[in-house]
Amino acid sequence: MIYLDNAATTRVRPEAAQAALEVMTRDFGNPSTRYALGTAAAERLAADRAVVAQALGCRAEEVVFTSCGTEGDNWAIRATLELGKRKGKHIVTTAIEHSAVLEPLRHLAAQGYEVTYLRPDRNGHISPAQVEGALRPDTVLVSMMLVNNELGTLLPVREAAEAVRRSGCPALVHTDAVQGFLKVPFTPEGLGVDLLTLSGHKIGAPKGIGALYIRRGLKLRPLLFGGGQEGGLRPGTEPTAQIAALAAACRVWMDHREEYTERMKVVKDHFLSSLQAALPRAVVVSPGDAPHICAVSLPGYPSEMLVRELSDRGICVSAGSACRRGKPSYVFAATGRPKTELLGTLRVSFSPESTPEEADALVSALEEIAQSRVSL
Ligand code: PLP
Repeated sequence: MIYLDNAATTRVRPEAAQAALEVMTRDFGNPSTRYALGTAAAERLAADRAVVAQALGCRAEEVVFTSCGTEGDNWAIRATLELGKRKGKHIVTTAIEHSAVLEPLRHLAAQGYEVTYLRPDRNGHISPAQVEGALRPDTVLVSMMLVNNELGTLLPVREAAEAVRRSGCPALVHTDAVQGFLKVPFTPEGLGVDLLTLSGHKIGAPKGIGALYIRRGLKLRPLLFGGGQEGGLRPGTEPTAQIAALAAACRVWMDHREEYTERMKVVKDHFLSSLQAALPRAVVVSPGDAPHICAVSLPGYPSEMLVRELSDRGICVSAGSACRRGKPSYVFAATGRPKTELLGTLRVSFSPESTPEEADALVSALEEIAQSRVSL
Protein backbone atom coordinates (compact mmCIF):
# COMPACT_ATOMS: atom_id res chain seq x y z
CA MET A 1 0.00 0.00 0.00
CA ILE A 2 1.13 3.52 -0.77
CA TYR A 3 -0.20 5.96 1.80
CA LEU A 4 -0.19 9.58 0.67
CA ASP A 5 -2.97 10.96 2.85
CA ASN A 6 -0.94 12.02 5.86
CA ALA A 7 -3.01 15.17 6.37
CA ALA A 8 -5.95 12.86 7.16
CA THR A 9 -4.00 10.84 9.69
CA THR A 10 -0.62 9.20 10.08
CA ARG A 11 0.66 5.76 10.92
CA VAL A 12 1.52 5.63 14.63
CA ARG A 13 5.30 5.86 15.04
CA PRO A 14 6.93 2.83 16.72
CA GLU A 15 8.34 5.12 19.44
CA ALA A 16 4.83 6.40 20.19
CA ALA A 17 3.31 2.90 20.21
CA GLN A 18 6.10 1.71 22.52
CA ALA A 19 5.55 4.61 24.93
CA ALA A 20 1.80 3.91 24.99
CA LEU A 21 2.39 0.20 25.61
CA GLU A 22 4.73 0.96 28.51
CA VAL A 23 2.18 3.23 30.13
CA MET A 24 -0.75 0.89 29.50
CA THR A 25 0.95 -2.21 30.86
CA ARG A 26 3.60 -0.98 33.34
CA ASP A 27 3.22 2.66 34.40
CA PHE A 28 -0.57 2.45 34.38
CA GLY A 29 -1.31 4.22 37.65
CA ASN A 30 -3.86 6.98 37.99
CA PRO A 31 -1.86 10.22 38.36
CA SER A 32 -4.29 11.44 41.06
CA THR A 33 -3.52 8.54 43.44
CA ARG A 34 -0.98 8.86 46.23
CA TYR A 35 0.92 5.56 46.24
CA ALA A 36 4.13 5.03 44.30
CA LEU A 37 2.49 3.77 41.09
CA GLY A 38 0.27 6.87 41.01
CA THR A 39 2.98 9.37 41.79
CA ALA A 40 5.19 7.77 39.12
CA ALA A 41 2.32 8.23 36.66
CA ALA A 42 1.97 11.88 37.73
CA GLU A 43 5.71 12.42 37.24
CA ARG A 44 5.61 10.86 33.81
CA LEU A 45 2.59 12.97 32.90
CA ALA A 46 4.46 16.12 33.97
CA ALA A 47 7.50 15.08 31.94
CA ASP A 48 5.33 14.34 28.89
CA ARG A 49 3.58 17.70 29.20
CA ALA A 50 6.99 19.38 29.30
CA VAL A 51 7.97 17.64 26.06
CA VAL A 52 4.79 18.76 24.26
CA ALA A 53 5.36 22.29 25.59
CA GLN A 54 8.92 22.20 24.30
CA ALA A 55 7.71 21.07 20.88
CA LEU A 56 5.25 23.97 20.86
CA GLY A 57 7.68 26.46 22.33
CA CYS A 58 5.59 27.40 25.36
CA ARG A 59 5.38 26.79 29.12
CA ALA A 60 4.17 23.41 30.40
CA GLU A 61 1.32 25.05 32.32
CA GLU A 62 0.02 26.50 29.04
CA VAL A 63 -0.66 23.01 27.61
CA VAL A 64 -4.02 21.38 28.39
CA PHE A 65 -4.56 17.92 26.94
CA THR A 66 -7.77 17.31 25.01
CA SER A 67 -9.15 14.31 23.16
CA CYS A 68 -8.61 15.72 19.65
CA GLY A 69 -8.28 18.81 17.50
CA THR A 70 -12.04 19.10 17.16
CA GLU A 71 -12.41 19.35 20.92
CA GLY A 72 -9.69 22.00 21.16
CA ASP A 73 -11.26 24.11 18.41
CA ASN A 74 -14.78 23.89 19.87
CA TRP A 75 -13.59 24.67 23.38
CA ALA A 76 -11.41 27.61 22.32
CA ILE A 77 -14.26 29.18 20.37
CA ARG A 78 -16.99 28.72 22.95
CA ALA A 79 -14.84 29.75 25.90
CA THR A 80 -13.61 32.87 24.09
CA LEU A 81 -17.13 33.99 23.32
CA GLU A 82 -18.13 33.39 26.92
CA LEU A 83 -15.29 35.68 28.01
CA GLY A 84 -16.24 38.34 25.49
CA LYS A 85 -20.01 38.17 25.90
CA ARG A 86 -20.33 41.70 27.25
CA LYS A 87 -17.97 43.15 24.65
CA GLY A 88 -19.47 42.06 21.37
CA LYS A 89 -20.87 39.38 19.11
CA HIS A 90 -18.69 39.64 16.02
CA ILE A 91 -16.31 36.89 14.92
CA VAL A 92 -13.75 36.89 12.11
CA THR A 93 -12.68 33.62 10.53
CA THR A 94 -11.93 32.26 7.07
CA ALA A 95 -14.06 30.35 4.59
CA ILE A 96 -11.44 27.59 4.48
CA GLU A 97 -11.28 26.58 8.15
CA HIS A 98 -11.76 22.96 9.11
CA SER A 99 -15.33 22.00 10.00
CA ALA A 100 -14.14 21.75 13.63
CA VAL A 101 -14.17 25.57 13.50
CA LEU A 102 -16.87 26.25 10.91
CA GLU A 103 -19.54 24.06 12.49
CA PRO A 104 -19.40 25.58 15.99
CA LEU A 105 -19.45 29.00 14.34
CA ARG A 106 -22.51 28.03 12.32
CA HIS A 107 -24.30 27.11 15.52
CA LEU A 108 -23.21 30.35 17.16
CA ALA A 109 -24.46 32.35 14.18
CA ALA A 110 -27.88 30.82 14.81
CA GLN A 111 -27.61 32.17 18.38
CA GLY A 112 -27.09 35.75 17.27
CA TYR A 113 -23.35 35.96 16.58
CA GLU A 114 -22.26 37.63 13.39
CA VAL A 115 -19.48 35.85 11.54
CA THR A 116 -17.28 37.38 8.83
CA TYR A 117 -15.74 34.70 6.61
CA LEU A 118 -12.58 35.87 4.81
CA ARG A 119 -12.34 34.32 1.36
CA PRO A 120 -9.02 33.19 -0.09
CA ASP A 121 -7.64 34.20 -3.47
CA ARG A 122 -7.31 31.70 -6.32
CA ASN A 123 -4.20 30.25 -4.72
CA GLY A 124 -5.76 29.74 -1.30
CA HIS A 125 -4.12 32.75 0.35
CA ILE A 126 -5.66 35.33 2.64
CA SER A 127 -4.03 38.72 3.05
CA PRO A 128 -3.34 40.56 6.30
CA ALA A 129 -5.27 43.53 4.83
CA GLN A 130 -8.40 41.36 4.67
CA VAL A 131 -8.16 40.70 8.39
CA GLU A 132 -7.48 44.35 9.15
CA GLY A 133 -10.51 45.37 7.09
CA ALA A 134 -12.82 42.91 8.85
CA LEU A 135 -12.09 43.92 12.45
CA ARG A 136 -14.71 45.96 14.30
CA PRO A 137 -14.94 47.43 17.80
CA ASP A 138 -17.24 44.52 18.73
CA THR A 139 -15.03 41.75 17.32
CA VAL A 140 -14.45 39.29 20.16
CA LEU A 141 -12.78 36.40 18.32
CA VAL A 142 -10.47 35.94 15.35
CA SER A 143 -10.04 32.26 14.52
CA MET A 144 -7.64 31.56 11.67
CA MET A 145 -5.91 28.28 10.90
CA LEU A 146 -2.14 28.20 10.50
CA VAL A 147 -1.93 25.73 7.60
CA ASN A 148 -4.92 24.80 5.48
CA ASN A 149 -5.54 21.07 5.53
CA GLU A 150 -6.53 20.74 1.87
CA LEU A 151 -4.37 23.32 0.13
CA GLY A 152 -1.31 23.35 2.37
CA THR A 153 -1.32 27.16 2.31
CA LEU A 154 -0.03 29.22 5.23
CA LEU A 155 -2.42 31.80 6.63
CA PRO A 156 -1.28 35.14 8.10
CA VAL A 157 -1.96 34.33 11.74
CA ARG A 158 0.85 36.49 13.14
CA GLU A 159 -0.29 39.46 11.06
CA ALA A 160 -3.89 38.85 12.16
CA ALA A 161 -2.84 38.95 15.83
CA GLU A 162 -0.88 42.16 15.17
CA ALA A 163 -3.88 43.72 13.45
CA VAL A 164 -6.06 42.86 16.45
CA ARG A 165 -3.61 44.56 18.80
CA ARG A 166 -3.31 47.63 16.57
CA SER A 167 -7.06 47.97 16.16
CA GLY A 168 -7.71 47.97 19.89
CA CYS A 169 -10.71 45.65 19.48
CA PRO A 170 -11.28 43.21 22.35
CA ALA A 171 -10.81 40.06 20.22
CA LEU A 172 -8.87 37.05 21.38
CA VAL A 173 -6.97 35.22 18.65
CA HIS A 174 -7.25 31.47 18.18
CA THR A 175 -5.39 29.41 15.62
CA ASP A 176 -6.06 25.85 14.58
CA ALA A 177 -2.48 24.67 14.16
CA VAL A 178 -3.40 21.01 13.66
CA GLN A 179 -1.68 20.83 10.26
CA GLY A 180 1.17 23.20 11.11
CA PHE A 181 2.39 21.67 14.38
CA LEU A 182 6.01 20.56 13.93
CA LYS A 183 5.71 20.94 10.14
CA VAL A 184 6.22 24.72 9.98
CA PRO A 185 8.24 26.76 12.48
CA PHE A 186 6.26 28.83 14.98
CA THR A 187 5.69 29.42 18.66
CA PRO A 188 2.36 30.60 20.08
CA GLU A 189 4.07 33.64 21.54
CA GLY A 190 5.78 34.44 18.24
CA LEU A 191 2.39 34.24 16.52
CA GLY A 192 0.86 36.38 19.25
CA VAL A 193 -2.13 34.08 19.70
CA ASP A 194 -4.13 33.49 22.86
CA LEU A 195 -5.25 29.96 22.01
CA LEU A 196 -3.86 27.29 19.72
CA THR A 197 -5.14 23.83 18.87
CA LEU A 198 -3.10 20.76 18.00
CA SER A 199 -3.87 17.10 17.39
CA GLY A 200 -1.63 14.09 17.91
CA HIS A 201 -2.68 11.83 15.07
CA LYS A 202 -1.19 14.12 12.41
CA ILE A 203 2.34 13.57 13.74
CA GLY A 204 2.50 9.84 14.40
CA ALA A 205 0.68 9.70 17.75
CA PRO A 206 -2.57 7.74 18.01
CA LYS A 207 -6.00 9.22 17.45
CA GLY A 208 -7.72 10.44 20.60
CA ILE A 209 -5.18 12.92 21.91
CA GLY A 210 -4.70 16.62 21.29
CA ALA A 211 -3.89 19.76 23.21
CA LEU A 212 -5.04 23.30 23.58
CA TYR A 213 -2.45 25.99 24.27
CA ILE A 214 -3.96 28.58 26.59
CA ARG A 215 -1.82 31.69 26.99
CA ARG A 216 -0.67 32.19 30.56
CA GLY A 217 -2.98 34.59 32.36
CA LEU A 218 -6.00 33.83 30.20
CA LYS A 219 -8.77 32.54 32.45
CA LEU A 220 -10.83 30.20 30.34
CA ARG A 221 -14.11 28.62 31.33
CA PRO A 222 -13.57 24.87 31.95
CA LEU A 223 -14.66 22.56 29.16
CA LEU A 224 -16.12 20.10 31.66
CA PHE A 225 -16.75 20.06 35.37
CA GLY A 226 -15.53 17.14 37.45
CA GLY A 227 -12.28 16.18 39.20
CA GLY A 228 -9.50 18.72 39.24
CA GLN A 229 -7.40 17.27 36.42
CA GLU A 230 -5.75 19.61 33.88
CA GLY A 231 -5.96 22.46 36.36
CA GLY A 232 -9.71 21.90 36.64
CA LEU A 233 -10.12 23.07 33.04
CA ARG A 234 -10.57 19.74 31.36
CA PRO A 235 -11.24 17.19 34.09
CA GLY A 236 -11.34 13.45 33.56
CA THR A 237 -8.66 10.87 34.39
CA GLU A 238 -5.80 11.75 32.09
CA PRO A 239 -5.30 9.46 29.06
CA THR A 240 -1.72 8.85 30.14
CA ALA A 241 -0.93 6.30 27.42
CA GLN A 242 -2.02 8.62 24.60
CA ILE A 243 -0.20 11.52 26.23
CA ALA A 244 2.98 9.43 26.49
CA ALA A 245 2.61 8.53 22.81
CA LEU A 246 2.10 12.18 21.86
CA ALA A 247 5.21 13.18 23.79
CA ALA A 248 7.22 10.37 22.15
CA ALA A 249 6.07 11.46 18.68
CA CYS A 250 6.98 15.08 19.51
CA ARG A 251 10.43 13.97 20.64
CA VAL A 252 11.09 12.15 17.35
CA TRP A 253 9.95 15.17 15.33
CA MET A 254 12.04 17.57 17.41
CA ASP A 255 15.13 15.39 16.94
CA HIS A 256 14.70 15.28 13.14
CA ARG A 257 12.78 18.43 12.36
CA GLU A 258 14.92 19.93 9.60
CA GLU A 259 15.57 16.57 8.00
CA TYR A 260 11.83 15.68 8.01
CA THR A 261 10.81 19.04 6.59
CA GLU A 262 13.37 18.78 3.81
CA ARG A 263 12.43 15.16 2.98
CA MET A 264 8.72 15.93 2.68
CA LYS A 265 9.41 19.01 0.59
CA VAL A 266 11.74 17.11 -1.77
CA VAL A 267 9.17 14.34 -2.32
CA LYS A 268 6.34 16.85 -2.82
CA ASP A 269 8.36 18.89 -5.34
CA HIS A 270 9.33 15.69 -7.12
CA PHE A 271 5.69 14.64 -7.30
CA LEU A 272 4.54 18.00 -8.69
CA SER A 273 7.22 18.17 -11.38
CA SER A 274 6.79 14.50 -12.41
CA LEU A 275 3.03 14.96 -12.63
CA GLN A 276 3.29 18.01 -14.86
CA ALA A 277 5.84 16.27 -17.09
CA ALA A 278 3.73 13.11 -17.43
CA LEU A 279 0.31 14.77 -17.66
CA PRO A 280 0.67 18.30 -19.07
CA ARG A 281 -3.04 18.98 -18.59
CA ALA A 282 -2.85 18.32 -14.86
CA VAL A 283 -3.24 21.51 -12.83
CA VAL A 284 -1.40 22.31 -9.64
CA VAL A 285 -4.24 23.84 -7.62
CA SER A 286 -1.90 24.51 -4.72
CA PRO A 287 1.77 23.59 -4.40
CA GLY A 288 1.35 24.17 -0.65
CA ASP A 289 3.48 26.49 1.46
CA ALA A 290 3.75 23.78 4.12
CA PRO A 291 6.15 20.96 3.23
CA HIS A 292 3.65 18.12 3.36
CA ILE A 293 0.41 19.09 1.55
CA CYS A 294 -0.40 19.92 -2.06
CA ALA A 295 -3.54 19.86 -4.21
CA VAL A 296 -3.63 18.88 -7.87
CA SER A 297 -6.39 18.46 -10.39
CA LEU A 298 -7.01 16.34 -13.43
CA PRO A 299 -9.74 18.41 -15.09
CA GLY A 300 -12.47 16.22 -16.55
CA TYR A 301 -11.79 13.32 -14.17
CA PRO A 302 -13.98 13.53 -11.05
CA SER A 303 -11.93 13.22 -7.90
CA GLU A 304 -14.27 10.61 -6.39
CA MET A 305 -13.55 8.35 -9.39
CA LEU A 306 -9.80 9.05 -9.13
CA VAL A 307 -9.76 8.20 -5.41
CA ARG A 308 -11.59 4.94 -6.13
CA GLU A 309 -9.35 3.96 -9.05
CA LEU A 310 -6.22 4.81 -7.07
CA SER A 311 -7.52 2.81 -4.12
CA ASP A 312 -7.99 -0.18 -6.45
CA ARG A 313 -4.28 0.18 -7.24
CA GLY A 314 -3.33 0.30 -3.55
CA ILE A 315 -2.78 4.08 -3.37
CA CYS A 316 -4.47 6.26 -0.71
CA VAL A 317 -5.03 9.94 -1.45
CA SER A 318 -7.96 12.14 -0.62
CA ALA A 319 -10.49 14.19 -2.57
CA GLY A 320 -10.67 16.86 0.11
CA SER A 321 -12.60 16.94 3.33
CA ALA A 322 -16.18 16.99 2.12
CA CYS A 323 -16.34 16.00 -1.50
CA ARG A 324 -19.76 14.50 -1.98
CA ARG A 325 -21.88 13.62 -4.97
CA GLY A 326 -20.29 15.76 -7.63
CA LYS A 327 -19.70 18.73 -5.35
CA PRO A 328 -16.15 19.92 -4.79
CA SER A 329 -14.96 20.38 -1.22
CA TYR A 330 -15.85 23.83 0.14
CA VAL A 331 -12.16 24.58 0.56
CA PHE A 332 -11.31 23.96 -3.08
CA ALA A 333 -14.53 25.73 -4.13
CA ALA A 334 -13.55 28.82 -2.07
CA THR A 335 -10.59 29.40 -4.39
CA GLY A 336 -13.09 30.21 -7.15
CA ARG A 337 -11.32 28.09 -9.72
CA PRO A 338 -13.24 26.71 -12.73
CA LYS A 339 -15.66 23.89 -11.87
CA THR A 340 -13.95 21.27 -14.07
CA GLU A 341 -10.70 21.89 -12.20
CA LEU A 342 -12.39 21.78 -8.82
CA LEU A 343 -14.23 18.55 -9.52
CA GLY A 344 -11.00 16.73 -10.32
CA THR A 345 -9.01 17.95 -7.34
CA LEU A 346 -7.00 15.61 -5.13
CA ARG A 347 -5.11 16.35 -1.96
CA VAL A 348 -1.79 14.56 -1.74
CA SER A 349 -0.02 14.71 1.61
CA PHE A 350 3.32 13.32 2.64
CA SER A 351 5.06 12.07 5.77
CA PRO A 352 8.80 11.94 6.42
CA GLU A 353 8.64 8.27 5.35
CA SER A 354 7.17 9.06 1.91
CA THR A 355 9.55 8.34 -0.95
CA PRO A 356 10.06 9.67 -4.50
CA GLU A 357 9.24 6.13 -5.71
CA GLU A 358 5.82 6.35 -4.06
CA ALA A 359 5.24 9.72 -5.72
CA ASP A 360 6.27 8.17 -9.07
CA ALA A 361 3.81 5.30 -8.53
CA LEU A 362 1.01 7.82 -7.98
CA VAL A 363 1.92 9.71 -11.16
CA SER A 364 2.03 6.45 -13.19
CA ALA A 365 -1.33 5.39 -11.79
CA LEU A 366 -2.89 8.75 -12.70
CA GLU A 367 -1.42 8.47 -16.19
CA GLU A 368 -2.89 4.98 -16.56
CA ILE A 369 -6.31 6.13 -15.35
CA ALA A 370 -6.28 9.12 -17.71
CA GLN A 371 -5.46 6.81 -20.64
CA SER A 372 -8.09 4.23 -19.77
CA ARG A 373 -10.95 6.61 -18.98
CA VAL A 374 -12.55 9.18 -21.23
CA SER A 375 -12.62 12.57 -19.55
CA LEU A 376 -16.01 14.16 -18.91
N1 PLP B 1 -8.26 21.09 12.15
C1 PLP B 1 -7.61 20.71 11.05
C2 PLP B 1 -6.94 21.75 10.21
C3 PLP B 1 -7.56 19.37 10.68
O1 PLP B 1 -6.91 19.01 9.56
C4 PLP B 1 -8.21 18.43 11.50
C5 PLP B 1 -8.24 17.00 11.11
O2 PLP B 1 -8.25 16.65 9.97
C6 PLP B 1 -8.87 18.88 12.64
C7 PLP B 1 -8.87 20.21 12.95
C8 PLP B 1 -9.58 17.94 13.55
O3 PLP B 1 -8.66 17.21 14.33
P1 PLP B 1 -9.11 15.84 15.00
O4 PLP B 1 -9.23 14.84 13.90
O5 PLP B 1 -8.00 15.53 15.95
O6 PLP B 1 -10.39 16.09 15.69
